[in-house]
Amino acid sequence: MANKIRSTEYVPFSPPCIGDEEIAEVLDTLRSDWLTTGPKTKAFEEQFADAVGAEAGLALNSCTAGLHLALLGSGVGPGHEVITTPMTFAATVNVIEHVGARPVLVDVEPDTLNIDPDRVEAAITPLTRAITAVHFAGHPADMKSLREIAARHDLSLIEDAAHALPAKFDGRFVGGDSNYASFSFYATKNMTTGEGGMLTGSRELVDRVRPFALHGISRDAWNRYGPGGSWAYDIVTPGFKYNMTDIQAWLGKWQLRKLGACQKRRQEMEEAYNEGFADFDEFELPAQRGEVEHAWHLYVLRIRQQASSLTRDKLMSKLAENKIGASVHFIPIHVHSYYREKYGFAPRDFPIALSNYQRALSLPLSPRLTDSQVERVIDVVRGAVRQTQRRAA
Ligand SMILES: *Cc1c(COP(=O)(O)O)cnc(C)c1O
Repeated sequence: MANKIRSTEYVPFSPPCIGDEEIAEVLDTLRSDWLTTGPKTKAFEEQFADAVGAEAGLALNSCTAGLHLALLGSGVGPGHEVITTPMTFAATVNVIEHVGARPVLVDVEPDTLNIDPDRVEAAITPLTRAITAVHFAGHPADMKSLREIAARHDLSLIEDAAHALPAKFDGRFVGGDSNYASFSFYATKNMTTGEGGMLTGSRELVDRVRPFALHGISRDAWNRYGPGGSWAYDIVTPGFKYNMTDIQAWLGKWQLRKLGACQKRRQEMEEAYNEGFADFDEFELPAQRGEVEHAWHLYVLRIRQQASSLTRDKLMSKLAENKIGASVHFIPIHVHSYYREKYGFAPRDFPIALSNYQRALSLPLSPRLTDSQVERVIDVVRGAVRQTQRRAA
């Protein structure tokens, strides 16, 4: 694989995995007559939809754009409620505010940190229009239960699939169902186009929001400057500027082709971490339920605070001292000042999300990291535990 990192250097948290194929393709596109949304973007939409078994795909400039369009396509607007999880990145919830609806947070399951279907059911009111599930770290949410609840109450089900490529639930790829699912190609995600995203779903649902992605221009007027294109266009809705470029699309084409190989490497790293920490009661290792295939976007290690005087913050400092990049996923939504102040949340309102946030950290994970770098991370983490064990003895 291209661009290996030397073992004595800083271990980055999630470096991108860009090879010569992507670089050549981007240069080739830059030398062509067409840079922005065009035939390559169209082709990439089809390649991606095929890869996850979706009827249709809409290539966008972010996952956030996809989540926003999914709400619009589901008819969510002012006065409505959308039930979602506090254990996510702000984008999931910000877009609910953008359409004028009210985000209704419910707590997560303690093992997967995904939205808890029982709590979803209990939070439904006559104003509820949609449920947004997030596949935390790449472990699919309980889609069987969520689908049943959505069907029973006639709600739209939206998947924030930013972490879930490629993940499976009951043998089917996340993104392969008829409801909306939004993927991210942000620089740190399992595949990247620098910035970018893809909305999948039934052809009907995806076509419904297609005009919104490019100013609200009618039909496929993106080709109005190409051969056979017409100068005439009509604005059918005040749309957004959410389109993907052909430069990104052909980068994505190669990233998609390499996804299987990258996934295998992620799994190897996850297994090495599990093995490296298995003999410590101090840690809770990531869950993986029988009905899922995990995308391993993140390796989230949790400290059992009863078993250890080691804290998450101490471990984060140890990693930083040893030139290892780590991160925390996520600062729960209800702790952020905008949401706390607008909805009057207290930290303990979602105790499972809060307590897990306080004891969790995400270790470096990328196909670009070498075995020796993974070993170095394991050694530093083990060393930090041993140090607290010695102090306690
Ligand atoms: C990264 C991320 C997003 C946003 O993706 P963008 O492509 O940057 O818009 C949304 N939700 C979750 C859970 C994410 O991790």
